[in-house]
Amino acid sequence: MNLKSGYPTLSSPLELSLHKKGLRLTPQRKKVLDLFQRIGTGNHLSAEEVHGHLIQIESKVSLATIYRTLRLLVRMGFLHELELTEGGHRFELLSKDNPDHHHLVCINCGRTEEFESDQVVLAGSKAAESKGFKLIESTLNVRALCPDCI
Ligand SMILES: [Zn+2]
Ligand SMILES: [Zn+2]
Repeated sequence: MNLKSGYPTLSSPLELSLHKKGLRLTPQRKKVLDLFQRIGTGNHLSAEEVHGHLIQIESKVSLATIYRTLRLLVRMGFLHELELTEGGHRFELLSKDNPDHHHLVCINCGRTEEFESDQVVLAGSKAAESKGFKLIESTLNVRALCPDCI
């Protein structure tokens, strides 16, 4: 008999991080994170889109639960939340392979393209430094209209 049965085995970084904060890795949280890991970095999903994917594998999950789960994963540093006024909120996987990047967002259809700019990152860190702020992130969201919506 396995003596460890009944005890959670902490294997993945997510489980370790949740454990440290006294949070449980519920099947739901894992499913949401799995979805983002499956689609990979550079994809930006709204809560409605995440909900749409999840109800295909688990019909009972509510949109409110998806929102709570997404917010939690953001607080824990697994997802990044983009606050876009017209397009609502979108979420993406936070990854070391995908460092500071910026977003060009269509305010009409929500299409989101990424770009990189060292100048933006530098300007943010300089501004923070000059005012004595501790920098958390330095990203730019550009609101625009995509070619299909012009
Ligand atoms: Zn992004
Ligand atoms: Zn558009």
